[in-house]
Amino acid sequence: MGLRFTVLCSGSTGNATVVSSSAATVLVDVGLSARKIEELMQEREVSGSDLDAIFVTHEHSDHIKGLGALARKYKLPIYANEKTWAAMHKHVGEIGDEQRKIMPSDSAMELFDLRIESYGISHDAAEPVGYCFESGGAKLSLATDLGYVSDRVMSQLKNSNVLVLESNHDVNMLRMGRYPWNIKRRILGDTGHLSNEAAGEALRALLTDGATRRVYLAHLSQEHNMMELAKMTVSNVLEDGGIFYQANEFALCETHYDKPTPWDLVKS
Ligand SMILES: [Zn+2]
Ligand SMILES: [Zn+2]
Repeated sequence: MGLRFTVLCSGSTGNATVVSSSAATVLVDVGLSARKIEELMQEREVSGSDLDAIFVTHEHSDHIKGLGALARKYKLPIYANEKTWAAMHKHVGEIGDEQRKIMPSDSAMELFDLRIESYGISHDAAEPVGYCFESGGAKLSLATDLGYVSDRVMSQLKNSNVLVLESNHDVNMLRMGRYPWNIKRRILGDTGHLSNEAAGEALRALLTDGATRRVYLAHLSQEHNMMELAKMTVSNVLEDGGIFYQANEFALCETHYDKPTPWDLVKS
């Protein structure tokens, strides 16, 4: 079966992704209610009892809303770093000691045939991380909630066969939008979210390694972005850099805030 995944939901309303190898199935973030996440998993024929663990990127509610309830229902271990545990402690409710697992930032672990690596990102949370998954030589990277793409993140994302990358907002739509200026400044800042252009620029540098087949644009703002605009902006930046994705067997794929992406089989 190899390494495969489905992004159940993505955006400021809620985020969750199922990653599955031959022997392990994990959930990254539980950003909608447990009931809603279970419904979305069912659409991809995954049950809570199929899960081996939950990994948490950071404590914002669009990533942990249903975490406590789902973990309790299926007695799932939750992996997060210490600062994230401290920050989300009161939001997740009672979690048994045996379910409370610490995974330090910038560390790696194995769950059966699935290798999981966490890496620190710049975002306004206690100690936010992204995750890379490897199994059978294939690599999938999840990178959302990034203020900017640091050199550290760039080197972490190298050689990903599939990448789920934040393309949060169109800078002009955000500037013209109705949000108060302090919120706009937060989103645009180094610990906020990645714009369409910034996503395109990161990709332009990353795609030179020739490993990446598909990029899923993720965590789109419903207020300040549209999928077609995000795709167009990213592909324009790539074309400016001489990368013509249609000709290169490279595809830009969509994620949705309310429905799961098709299962994607990641190959090396
Ligand atoms: Zn966040
Ligand atoms: Zn988020």
